[in-house]
Amino acid sequence: MTRFVEKVVAENTFCPFCENNESSTPPEVLALRDYGSRPDCPGWSLRVVPNKFPALKAEGELERMKNGIYDQMSGVGMHEVLIETPDHNQALATLPVDNISDLFMAVRSRFNVFKSDSRILCAQFFKNHGHEAGASLEHSHSQIIAMPVISRLLGEELAGSKAYSVKHGSCVYCDIIRDEVITGDRIVSENDLFVALAPYASRFAYETWLLPKKHSSMFENSTDDAIHALAEIFKDTAGRVDKLLGSPPYNLMLHTAPFGDPSGADHYHWHTELMPVLGQAAGFEWGAGFHINSVPPEEAAKALRQA
Ligand SMILES: [Zn+2]
Ligand SMILES: [Zn+2]
Repeated sequence: MTRFVEKVVAENTFCPFCENNESSTPPEVLALRDYGSRPDCPGWSLRVVPNKFPALKAEGELERMKNGIYDQMSGVGMHEVLIETPDHNQALATLPVDNISDLFMAVRSRFNVFKSDSRILCAQFFKNHGHEAGASLEHSHSQIIAMPVISRLLGEELAGSKAYSVKHGSCVYCDIIRDEVITGDRIVSENDLFVALAPYASRFAYETWLLPKKHSSMFENSTDDAIHALAEIFKDTAGRVDKLLGSPPYNLMLHTAPFGDPSGADHYHWHTELMPVLGQAAGFEWGAGFHINSVPPEEAAKALRQA
């Protein structure tokens, strides 16, 4: 297993993500800018730039090698950073819904670009908020790593949703949403298009999933309305987490079907997972692969609903 160690930059040092410091990042690949402003200059509300210290590199052919009993693959892929605001002191969850929506629209746009590269099989959008959650810079940002393989967790979820669909003839996530909305015990909040819920037997305290109510396997096919509703439910949920738990560090992850075979993952249902970081995996978790969660999801959802 690979662990990406990020470089930690202390507070009050030079910040490459602040407005006026655009020349300290690689040239932007996407930006939302004031009319007439020039690329890599001030006048933006969101910038997407290649990571200066990428986990994977875009150049080169995809090669598979044998190294004794081990299989190896060249590290081809893309690693981009989405700078969510020019203001160093803003947090994503406190930005206006329209700005949060802009972030998810930028993710959709980049996913559609990665998808056209035949070497790329899937992309992982994620956000590390706060040092304990793995953020290397405190300026609000998120990342995308586009990979030449299907990630291990996505592979497990795809296998699970396929097995369920073969057995029951329906989507496991759609069935979960239907049942959870009826019982309500693990629902955190809802809007017309999304539901936020604490998943049954969740791994981590206050782990919350944000799921589109309408079945869809690919995030990048989302309409503008769906993206806006996702931004709304993210802001609502993150606001509840902040209020209840005192603005903890958190990770946000997007899980969406792999690229390539357009109908091969119809059984899958894209969603995002929000995980407040309140403790860390320790001996039992690493040893057994099971998680001990001291806050049952029913209690977590109730507390978040009331926050
Ligand atoms: Zn900054
Ligand atoms: Zn579904």
